[in-house]
Amino acid sequence: RVLKKPEAERSEEEAAVLLLHRETVEELCKRQVRRNVLKRKQEELYDDADELKRKVKQLAVAIEQAKHLVVYTGAGISTAASIPDYRGPNGVWTQLQKGRTISLSDLSKAEPTLTHICIRMLHKEKLVKHVVSQNCDGLHLRSGLPRHALSELHGNMFIEVCTSCSPVSEYVRLFDVTERTSLHRHGTGRRCSHCSGELKDTIVHFGERGTLEQPLNWKGAAEAAEMADVILCLGSSLKVLKKYACLWCMNRPASKRPKLYIVNLQWTPKDDLAVLKIHGKCDDVMSLLMKELSVQIPVYDRAEDPIFSLATSLLLEEANSHTREVIAPHDGQEVSTAVQGGWFGRGYGKGRKKKKKAA
Ligand SMILES: [Zn+2]
Repeated sequence: RVLKKPEAERSEEEAAVLLLHRETVEELCKRQVRRNVLKRKQEELYDDADELKRKVKQLAVAIEQAKHLVVYTGAGISTAASIPDYRGPNGVWTQLQKGRTISLSDLSKAEPTLTHICIRMLHKEKLVKHVVSQNCDGLHLRSGLPRHALSELHGNMFIEVCTSCSPVSEYVRLFDVTERTSLHRHGTGRRCSHCSGELKDTIVHFGERGTLEQPLNWKGAAEAAEMADVILCLGSSLKVLKKYACLWCMNRPASKRPKLYIVNLQWTPKDDLAVLKIHGKCDDVMSLLMKELSVQIPVYDRAEDPIFSLATSLLLEEANSHTREVIAPHDGQEVSTAVQGGWFGRGYGKGRKKKKKAA
């Protein structure tokens, strides 16, 4: 209490107490510094309009000069699609912690954002060679980015696979296949039409190691990082990505590693290593960037979404094997249900329940 007072307002008696307990005072001050650092790392910062323009110009030059540009994406590129990120002020965990429910219609209505479309266009223009994403929302694929140019390191919520088949059989669905799955429990309840083995989701949860060839495509991600001279990170805290050493060429001396450009509102553990850190929303940065590069941004057209040609229809007897809303090429009825589990809700719910029981 004394420490919280400005020095000038402390009485002689109070000052004496502080002197008497010097070690405690030191410890308390250290804790305060740590708290402040943590607080600063969580803050969302915005560059002002002029600075944003200047930085995007610099990024555009780097992209034009890059020989092998690879893009790493995280939850921040999907927030505009009303898919909440995990840890931001409106993130999934923050919302659930406050006892709020997240409406399922938010997820099923999600469509590729402007950033997804821009990335796809940059790939089409041969400016981007490969995209590595942590997101399970399938929006890169749905934006029209070809699969060979994409690594979805943590899976895709629309894809279920049969690992009993060799090679693995894949079933793309028009709904979230993860409603019954969770950490170490990946069975979706449906069966493979070739061998009747149980189908599994492709989601990699915290603490799991994803070995599936597709859609994770680690091979593509590692090859891209090996070739990369520039890496652009969009909307990722990089807290998980930084653990994958092969994505950062950490085996090379710092001067031989790809140049890092980071677009994120919050602090990231790679900020100090970045050539440029842009504090801005991905959609804002990308629309400025496309202007700089003179690349048109088409509007997302759901009827043209590649998921419809990739999808395998359910068998008649499987019609009731899920309750999640189905994506349709055109608007239909929308149903809103509170999310009970799935690729983001379940892992969180488990931990909370245990905690509550223990309490
Ligand atoms: Zn099979």
